Amino acid sequence: MRTGAQFAAAGLIEPGREAAIDAVGARYSVALSRHLAELIDRTDSGDPIARQFVPSTEEMASGSDEFADPIGDGARSPVKGLVHRYPDRVLLMPTLACPVYCRYCFRRNRVGRAAGAPDADELDAAFAYIEDREEIREVILSGGDPLALSDARLARILRRIEAVDHVSVIRIHTRTPVAVPSRVTPGLVGALTLRRRPWMVLHCNHPRELSPEVEAAFARLAGAGVPLLSQSVLLRGVNDDADTLAELMRRLVAAGIKPYYLHHPDRAAGTARFRLTLAEGLDLVRALRGRISGLCQPTYVVDIPGGYGKIPVLDAVPGDRDGEWTLKDFTGREHAYRD
Ligand SMILES: *Cc1c(COP(=O)(O)O)cnc(C)c1O
Ligand code: SF4
Repeated sequence: MRTGAQFAAAGLIEPGREAAIDAVGARYSVALSRHLAELIDRTDSGDPIARQFVPSTEEMASGSDEFADPIGDGARSPVKGLVHRYPDRVLLMPTLACPVYCRYCFRRNRVGRAAGAPDADELDAAFAYIEDREEIREVILSGGDPLALSDARLARILRRIEAVDHVSVIRIHTRTPVAVPSRVTPGLVGALTLRRRPWMVLHCNHPRELSPEVEAAFARLAGAGVPLLSQSVLLRGVNDDADTLAELMRRLVAAGIKPYYLHHPDRAAGTARFRLTLAEGLDLVRALRGRISGLCQPTYVVDIPGGYGKIPVLDAVPGDRDGEWTLKDFTGREHAYRD
């Protein structure tokens, strides 16, 4: 569902709010899959799935500490559709479409807008950029959601990357198996069957997202030999308590998925309602340490605003005043950060 009328008909917004929700949709992409909508408990005003996907008029306000491009993709994009932040790996974004639009998305100013995605010539230029640079060992398909592409287009892109001798690792970041588990078809699994198995990083934030259909989709991917990792975003009102995080990580490991990253929420415009402080995040992550096994522990990371990359929050150095931090990027450069 995409429009205010559809959200109202599904009982996910109050009648009379349709136009206000459509105004949010005119600024930011909106979509909620039928599968996830069915998992929402209409009687719970704080439902963690509704909170992630149902638009809110709070998104129309953006603070002075928020950015259109919070992680600085633009500053590190040598050709359209490609971000090169670290020497040995690049992000390739062949599409900006997603099966759902997360209200906290760090690329919310661009996702779902056809204009930002590379056309065929621009994608050729991105492949040429990778082919010309032997230091690039890993290509990460991101977006948008690469599984929003057709099987044939995805297969063509994967096979083209696989043909580059110096690229030894292909990774796919996706929310699709959680949002639309039926998309994990034999055709998709066929597209993912390469000489070298691609790694897949599944975006999943709450144990309630792990429905039987989703777990079956994970099993189809694992059955095809795709190694599975997860990434989650720490979000106020969704998963910002130790019990929920512990259950999420345990359920992921039980399903054969290794929790990879827990992301501190980025400062994307209009997402203040999801944000918490680094100190609050650190308290939660420390609480997980004794409670769940090492297999269940993700690395808690923050993207340094401006395009300087992700660092473990445990490495952040507290400043003299509450909420002031120094973050050192992978080149050793220091950046001031304020909650
Ligand atoms: C997050 C990111 C990566 C991947 O980083 P890892 O720490 O290897 O998971 C690569 N390139 C860009 C531009 C990124 O933002
Ligand atoms: S799936 Fe990823 S890229 Fe798409 S809206 Fe959600 S966070 Fe953003």
